Amino acid sequence: MTVELGDVVEGPLDRLTEPLSRVLGTRTVGALNKLGLHTTGDLLRHYPRRYSEPGKLTDLSSLEIGEHVTVMAEVRQVTVREMRTRGGAMLQAVLTDGTRTLNLTFFAKHKGALHGHENKLRAGRVGLFTGVVGAYQGSRQLTHPDYTIVGVDVEDEAEALVEAGRPIPIYPASAAIASWRIHTCVRTVLDPLREVDVADPIPEALRTRLSLPTLHQALLDVHEPFDDSQVRRGTNRLKYEEAFVLQVALARRRAEAAGQEATARPRLAGGLLDAFDAQLPFTLTNGQREVGAELAVELAAPSPMQRLLQGEVGSGKTVVALRAMLQVVDGGGQAALMAPTEVLAAQHVRTLRALLGTLAEGGFLGGDDRGTRVALLTGSQNAAARRENLLDAAGGRAGIVVGTHALLSENVQFADLGLVVVDEQHRFGVEQRDTLRAKATRVPHLLVMTATPIPRTIAMTVFGDLETSTLTEVPAGRSGVTTHVVPADNPAWMDRTWRRVREEVDAFHRVFVVCPRIDPDDPAAAAGAAGVDDDGADLLALDLDPGDGTTAERRPLRAVLEVVEELRGLPALAGVDIGVLHGRMSADDKERTMAQFAAGQIQVLVATTVIEVGVDVAEATGMVVLDADRFGISQLHQLRGRVGRGSAPGLCLLVTGAVDSGSSSPSATRLRTLEETTDGFVLAAVDLELRREGDVLGAAQSGGLSSLRLLRVTRDADLIARARTEATAVVDADPTLEHSPALRAAIEQQLAGEREEFLDRS
Ligand code: ADP
Ligand code: MG
Repeated sequence: MTVELGDVVEGPLDRLTEPLSRVLGTRTVGALNKLGLHTTGDLLRHYPRRYSEPGKLTDLSSLEIGEHVTVMAEVRQVTVREMRTRGGAMLQAVLTDGTRTLNLTFFAKHKGALHGHENKLRAGRVGLFTGVVGAYQGSRQLTHPDYTIVGVDVEDEAEALVEAGRPIPIYPASAAIASWRIHTCVRTVLDPLREVDVADPIPEALRTRLSLPTLHQALLDVHEPFDDSQVRRGTNRLKYEEAFVLQVALARRRAEAAGQEATARPRLAGGLLDAFDAQLPFTLTNGQREVGAELAVELAAPSPMQRLLQGEVGSGKTVVALRAMLQVVDGGGQAALMAPTEVLAAQHVRTLRALLGTLAEGGFLGGDDRGTRVALLTGSQNAAARRENLLDAAGGRAGIVVGTHALLSENVQFADLGLVVVDEQHRFGVEQRDTLRAKATRVPHLLVMTATPIPRTIAMTVFGDLETSTLTEVPAGRSGVTTHVVPADNPAWMDRTWRRVREEVDAFHRVFVVCPRIDPDDPAAAAGAAGVDDDGADLLALDLDPGDGTTAERRPLRAVLEVVEELRGLPALAGVDIGVLHGRMSADDKERTMAQFAAGQIQVLVATTVIEVGVDVAEATGMVVLDADRFGISQLHQLRGRVGRGSAPGLCLLVTGAVDSGSSSPSATRLRTLEETTDGFVLAAVDLELRREGDVLGAAQSGGLSSLRLLRVTRDADLIARARTEATAVVDADPTLEHSPALRAAIEQQLAGEREEFLDRS
């Protein structure tokens, strides 16, 4: 009998799905529920955040007023007295870490009610105390703290010694339930469990081979350790488990896709692709050729290609994608190219048409008879154009359909969608990818392209269901970009900056001036909203926390509409045609402006980050980024990739008020790194280190990652790589995981969690 994922698995697993209410009291369960813990399994997966070293007292000077703290300290002195004026009694204890002190205060109706505390809080004893730090007459104190005295609740002396030497787990706690109360609950749940009660997602054979403890043992290791080495052993095993379960889930997705049927589109001799290659004005780089061959083979197979193409800015991904599209068109299919912004979609259409020449004029007089058409579909194009393009897509006349999110809308249909290319993946979630793929009658091949190099570890997790190809070299003949940081407060430097812009223009080159927002009149606080448009791209500059806490006192961010006026008034730029480009302009206006810029009718373009991705103007050599500290590393690298693409060298000036000489704030580090290197992989790695993990991964792409507690995607690359290999082997040997029910259950649980999260968000 085979079991489908989702069936209830009877037996031992149930011990970990038991509701906490079956083993713990109502109030405790209520407090645990608030921490998101509902089952015994949840509680056992609520790992300690850290461990208190036995006997090592907390540095009491580090406590902040108002903070909810758990401290280990020694009782120095206790006094109990009656309060004449107020009535009632009060116990005061002084705690110490050896140097500093902290006061404890308990009130009661009469002295007798304080006996319990008096008995436990004896001078010389060490305990864990928790509460909110308050201030009274200039001293810090905890009022009615919850506490436990180390070693007191143990009967025999020898045992007490051992107990006193054990690491003390400190749990993520709340005001409603203190850390050691959680510890007590964990023991209540964990102690009666035997090895067989705890189903282990890691198959025994693998566990043995890697010398990993069982799940049961690992839980004991982290919740009730006798020493640090046990903590390490348990933590490592649980971390490995997280990586392994995630990788098995991804391996199953890959296997599932491989098991699906797609239309094979083998390369056709004498077809469109051959004609294209014959007229290509440059030779492909080795990388382009190799990746191209890889794609050609996969497109020729009857199962869907699932590939991620990453490459340095300007490495020529578009041509690689186009050649794949042409192979599919030769095979009777269509290709959809999905771009994140309207500007980029329009740009892609222009680029593709230019590269294809008469091959893009299929069905037109003078077009090549092997030719096809390239259709554009965006949200804001006019009704007539849209209707025609929709017909070309649905009727199959357009072999290539380029668009934004508009491609996802219900009325877009294809005659035979054979390949989906998603450009600049970081703006698209997995769901959108799936929506587009659902438009095909059979599963289409998939090629995902990313703008920025992706560190290996992200490729293995976020994009773990895709195989990866990488273009490392940039075509010969590129002059590259030199980058300098310019202090905004230095008038001489700013003067020099604009004169440099002038020099570029005089040499018949073009210059971008990038600002973080559009309109100076938008309130600074609503700066994000100011950038909202169907492109969504303008927003990106503003999402970023500079990470040095200086946002609040910054002067207002430079805005396109203000900067353009300023530049038009500058003597240094007299006679220069200066245009603007931002997300609030209509698609037509944007496209017209880009065309004028490309043709040289506009020489300086003041823009938001709408130009960030993929804009390709060979004559653009200069870029000035204002408030450069407001942008992320990858984004700035992406931006400067727009210049120096032709034979003339590019110059990128990063203007910022955040960099004084010798400043070591994160923004300063970011900008200096950009000055020093143009290697996208190096920058991606620095970026990962400087930013918080969540920022890097992005909410839309965190599917599956929300279940990670111990694993750090940014740091545990080797572990993830090893888990991936093992996971692939397990799935190859047992695709439905029939023989590993606990593993199946773990994956099912992870999926359920993801769905829940998805529902929460929608
Ligand atoms: P990216 O990988 O950043 O998307 P593009 O595909 O936009 O890069 O390519 C950048 C530019 O390089 C384009 O103008 C493209 O036509 C050109 N290009 C691509 N491949 C080559 C090559 N092998 N030799 C010379 N130029 C190339
Ligand atoms: Mg590109």
